[in-house]
Amino acid sequence: MLNAVLKTFAGRIVYLMGSRDFSKKIIDWYLLNPRDLPWRKTKDPYRIWLSEIILQQTRVAQGLPYYLQFVRNFPNVKALANAPLEKVLRTWQGLGYYSRARNLHACAKEIAFKYNGKFPDTYSNLLTLPGIGSYTAAALSSIAFDKPDAVVDGNVFRVLSRIFGIQEDISSSIGKKTFYNKAQALLDPKQPGTFNQAIMEFGALHCTPKSPGCVDCIFASGCYANKNQMQALLPVNNKKVKVRNRYFTYFILMKGNKMALKKREGKDIWSGLYDFYLIEGLKRKKPESILSEDHVLKTIRNKATIVSQSEAYKHILTHQRIEATFVILSLSRDFLIKDLKGIKGLKFYSSKEILALPKPVLISRFLSKNGILE
Ligand code: SF4
Repeated sequence: MLNAVLKTFAGRIVYLMGSRDFSKKIIDWYLLNPRDLPWRKTKDPYRIWLSEIILQQTRVAQGLPYYLQFVRNFPNVKALANAPLEKVLRTWQGLGYYSRARNLHACAKEIAFKYNGKFPDTYSNLLTLPGIGSYTAAALSSIAFDKPDAVVDGNVFRVLSRIFGIQEDISSSIGKKTFYNKAQALLDPKQPGTFNQAIMEFGALHCTPKSPGCVDCIFASGCYANKNQMQALLPVNNKKVKVRNRYFTYFILMKGNKMALKKREGKDIWSGLYDFYLIEGLKRKKPESILSEDHVLKTIRNKATIVSQSEAYKHILTHQRIEATFVILSLSRDFLIKDLKGIKGLKFYSSKEILALPKPVLISRFLSKNGILE
């Protein structure tokens, strides 16, 4: 009994499907189409948690090498908890959203020291840990501990909105609740982890955002979006992403073969990562004018020569569009580190040392392109 009821709603055809029909169909599909991924072959909550954190806002193909590297560098939660944050950030380098890495480390510490290395096994206890929100708590409790907690992520929003014609705005709290209730009602309580992975996998591989495979879809005859040609309109997301433009001019102070970098602090992007002396403006500016205006650079101006100036590097983040220029300044022999008194934390590093530092991808791109780091 796949399509239990057929009725019309606002002039459109709506099929209602029983929850058992849905869960059986999607689990059967999953068992025939699983990707061979290492975190699927384990019940170890540490590895499942690692994969879930890494794969948030990251495609599997990009996240897989990071997962393998994390497991190599930190084989268990205690090893991760005891590692320096810089090593964790360096392993994370390139994945973006660095607060996830800092939370990963903080969470490992809490599990290692407060829970003696054992992950809590309930949704509510997992939710109290750093970096674990409702999605990760449900994924972990269902996949690692077989608890009946439904996950709702971007794939689940898409699959449920299209099949069941749910048109609530997924960015609203009412919309989130509607989808959560629907997912929870559909969940197979006997195999919650498999169900959750099945629906996410179906969204990732079959009911994809731009080209869903409706022609050979197991839900084709009952799918609301397919019947009403609304695939491109569902799910409804009214949240507009505001993008901010930023203009960076990096001054790379070089003394011999060493370059000066500093650790970024505060709440801005890339906190805890290393970059060069940075001047940010609301628009692009010539390095020469910055050199004569910036109060720190002005003091070293007579001991510094511009060696080169790069083309503009564009770097896109979810909410920011960065355009960066790199200016290499060679410092004279009589330059002393105390001349840099206006720049707290700036230190000189050899290229070997820079290689080991956690850095934004923008910095690595510049260094690799110029043969400074391979
Ligand atoms: S028929 Fe198309 S839109 Fe509906 S679930 Fe299948 S792939 Fe998705």
